Parts: sequence; structure tokens; C-alpha cells
Amino acid sequence: MNVIQQNIEYIRQSIPTGVTLVAVSKTKPVADIKEAMKAGQQIFGENKVQELVVKAKEINEPVKWHMIGHLQTNKVKLLLPHVHLIHSVESFKLARVINAEAEKIGKIIPCLLQIHIAQEETKFGFSEEEVLSMLQLPEFYSLKNIEVHGLMGMATYTDEMSVVRKEFAFLRMLFEKLKTNYFRDNPWFKELSMGMSNDYRIAIDEGTTMIRIGSLIFGERNYKQTEQ
Ligand SMILES: *Cc1c(COP(=O)(O)O)cnc(C)c1O
Repeated sequence: MNVIQQNIEYIRQSIPTGVTLVAVSKTKPVADIKEAMKAGQQIFGENKVQELVVKAKEINEPVKWHMIGHLQTNKVKLLLPHVHLIHSVESFKLARVINAEAEKIGKIIPCLLQIHIAQEETKFGFSEEEVLSMLQLPEFYSLKNIEVHGLMGMATYTDEMSVVRKEFAFLRMLFEKLKTNYFRDNPWFKELSMGMSNDYRIAIDEGTTMIRIGSLIFGERNYKQTEQ
């Protein structure tokens, strides 16, 4: 068995059923994705539109592509035909653009609202106040071509695991609050995307439903990772 397949097997054994594994294949070649597919992996995450589209054209079904990185409004149109879930909706403006482009191609796009839970300013996402004020706008509920499936967050990059745990616990609490107050009647509002290679075990403790794992599956990426 190839090392990528072994890594996937190993991670699968350490996550509870009900937690979805997103294999983050950014910067990695199609050959690596195909190895992961041999281990039954079908969900892959990318953080750049161009790269996701190129890979999606090369690899057909049954792969489901997740957009996990910062998304510029002018790239939405290119992305939508290929994407299965967008983790990184971080403004009302972006939600409206996704909705408008989805309407043009007759699709309903599942999305997660990205929440800024880390200490680093460089990371993206809504603050609690910002997301609450968006959810109070009647116009938000007229966006019929997006479907909000839950929340996503990235914890602070730190060795202090108590900080990470607190941030995940906050995101979980916000998820419950939004579900109760705004999405009670939406059965699909059920995903909490949190946890990466170095903190996914904590995320599991704190109730994640979707972990996004790159380096633990495919090995280190050979560039200095831009924070996003
Ligand atoms: C790169 C990336 C990951 C995966 O990071 P690893 O530490 O390699 O597991 C997860 N989520 C997002 C948003 C990323 O950009």
C-alpha cells in the first residue's frame, strides 16, 4: 500500500463515524489525488480556484471538490460548475455573488459561513457580530441559490492547545446558537468544519463534523504556507 493510502487508513481509524474527512490536496499533483482515491477517498479540498478547476477537469466523478480558501468574487463564476461545497463564505457580498452566479447556471450551492476565531488578523471570516447582523437582514433569506450547511473556522497556529480548544469550543457554541435562532427549520444546517493536521483531535473532542487534512495525508507542502 502506498504511503498516502496508509495515511488515509490511519486517519480514518482515528475519527468517529459521522466525521467527514476532507483531503486537502492543494499544491499536490493529480497522481497523489489518484493514490488517495484508491483508498476510497472522494472528497478533496483546494484553496485556489484555478488549481481546483484544472484538477476537476482532469479527474472526473466520483470526486467532490471543496473550496476551502479565500474566494474572490471575480473567480466565483469559474468555480461554481465544479464545486460541491464552499467552506469560505466570509461576507454578505460574496454570498450574493455566489447566489447570482448559481442562479445563472441553475444550481443551488451548499456553503459554510467562515467565522474568524483565531488571534491572527491575517485569517479571514465573519466576526460573531458580523454574522449576526447578516442573518438579521431579510435580503439574506431571499438568496435561494445558496444553501447554508453550517460554519467553518481555523484556529490560531500555536502549540498552546488550550487556545485552540477554546476557539473550537467558541465556534461550536456559535453554531448551536445560530442553529437555534436562524436555521431551526433547515435540516441541512449541520456541518461544523474545523480541525487540520495538527489540531483535528481537539476538533473531534469539540464536536467537529468535517476535518480538513493536508500534510498528514500528502506530506509537507514545499512552500511557506500563506495563512488563510
Ligand atoms: C491548507 C489548509 C488545510 C490543511 O492544512 P494541513 O495543516 O496541511 O492539514 C486546512 N484548511 C485550510 C483552510 C487550509 O488552507
